[in-house]
Amino acid sequence: MVYIILLGPPGAGKGTQAAYVAQSLKLAHVASGDLFRQALEQGTDLAQKVRSYMEAGKLVPDELTVSMVLERLKAPDCKTGAVLDGFPRNLKQAEALDSALSSQGSSIDWVVYIRVSEEEVLRRLGGRLICRNCQTPYHATESPPRVEGSCDKCGGELYQRPDDNVETIKKRLAVYNRETAPLIDYYAREGKLIEVDGEGGPAAVGVRVIAALKRGIEAA
Ligand code: AMP
Repeated sequence: MVYIILLGPPGAGKGTQAAYVAQSLKLAHVASGDLFRQALEQGTDLAQKVRSYMEAGKLVPDELTVSMVLERLKAPDCKTGAVLDGFPRNLKQAEALDSALSSQGSSIDWVVYIRVSEEEVLRRLGGRLICRNCQTPYHATESPPRVEGSCDKCGGELYQRPDDNVETIKKRLAVYNRETAPLIDYYAREGKLIEVDGEGGPAAVGVRVIAALKRGIEAA
């Protein structure tokens, strides 16, 4: 089993890079935000409980988030492991994940921390568009779809996430700095942290992420 976490502020490119790493290493891509958005699209019971937190840019309570992600990790496509994106987002979630993995005899292998500046985050998220169907991200000016409003991969409708407005982005950044950034030290202390420069286009960052993971695996 291989478990890799992608860590970084909103807009760091975690989703894009997690999909790339997952495909390269033949692992499942598990994104907590995508799972919540799917619940909202499907109007499930979970949707009613999480909508207000998501719209306000706040973290969904740990008990809902942890049980949703741990359930997802039991799916057949996770049998060789997973690339986690957007989870864990605080110390309690990290500890719950550690204990769930250790009870099945495994553990987190690597944590890739993608570092980007706040100015870059604001610029990226301001123009972000997401496919309603497969969640592939685009940028209105820097990586637009071939056909306006339509996903290159599946033809799904592109939309702007309601939490990608300047006010909510700033709240999400504050939540990240307060709750999630401490995980950088947590995983560094465990010797699992790999830091990557996240500035630049997705392909350039992807090359850095894979190279950093290779260096980590070779040095281990
Ligand atoms: P994301 O797509 O990762 O930016 O997540 C979108 C929103 O979903 C966040 O602003 C939170 O409201 C919620 N969310 C996603 N992942 C988590 C998590 N690990 N813990 C708590 N809330 C989360």
